[in-house]
Amino acid sequence: MPRLEHPYHDLTGGRWLRGNLHAHTTRSDGEHEPQQLVDAYVERGYGFLALTDHDICWTPTNLATLDPRGMVLLPGNEVTMGGPHMCHVGADRRLEPDWRRQNVIDQANEGPGFIVVNHPNWQQHFDHVPFSQLDLLKHYTGVEIFNGIMQHDEGSAYALNKWDMLLSSGRRVWGFANDDTHGQRFVGFGWNTAYVRDTSNADDVEAGRQAVLDALKAGRFYASTGVHITGIHIDGMRVTIETDNARRIVGIGKGGKRFAMANDHAIEIDVPDDVSHARFTCWGEGEQFAWTQPMWVVEDE
Ligand SMILES: [Zn+2]
Ligand SMILES: [Zn+2]
Repeated sequence: MPRLEHPYHDLTGGRWLRGNLHAHTTRSDGEHEPQQLVDAYVERGYGFLALTDHDICWTPTNLATLDPRGMVLLPGNEVTMGGPHMCHVGADRRLEPDWRRQNVIDQANEGPGFIVVNHPNWQQHFDHVPFSQLDLLKHYTGVEIFNGIMQHDEGSAYALNKWDMLLSSGRRVWGFANDDTHGQRFVGFGWNTAYVRDTSNADDVEAGRQAVLDALKAGRFYASTGVHITGIHIDGMRVTIETDNARRIVGIGKGGKRFAMANDHAIEIDVPDDVSHARFTCWGEGEQFAWTQPMWVVEDE
């Protein structure tokens, strides 16, 4: 019997938290002082934030000089020089921007953090990270399928095309939505809503960080620019997705082909077993979207 392998198991004993994993401060080319950046996201009700200045590593030690105001602050670094940009989220140390980017990824994976390949469709040629390179590099956790600041720069803010190509070739990579904050006008366009295990008993900053990193690495989140998903239920091949504010929900499979569509705030569908994988895009009003992570059709013995 075919069934779906997916990251949305056991959505109990925790809570949904919203976070941005790509933001710059005055330590590189951002306009916010680090604490101002934290404050900007606290005021929008975010639960976590990664500070990812260009080739500057935020470690747990220098993050400790900031007041998180209830947010989980993740150390980070945008590996920039010499190759495609990638965020080291949950950085335990500074990774040198080795032009052999596979080395960067492998080193990140030795620690608690993970790598997200950034804004693949940036620049005049819309090809900051060509598909051939995304295909060649291994063991990164995800790609930015939405990057907010790219709305004001050359190229495309979206990279669903390359994500669908990766998924269709069997790669298991998560899709992230981030602001790539460089100033106040770039705050709050794209985020990741993760189901994070409750660590309120552990009075420990590290435990909170680990819980957020665990959820993100496991894919227990959806990416959003405004649609709020209230439920994801998967049973065998049956998927139910509920939202507050979607107008249309579409199921997308191999080759980026649509296999289902509902002009509604929710969808309940049996995923056909010939699609290899399934992901769902939810359209809201205007430029609001939500994107679930992929689910893979597997055959039980
Ligand atoms: Zn960048
Ligand atoms: Zn950036």
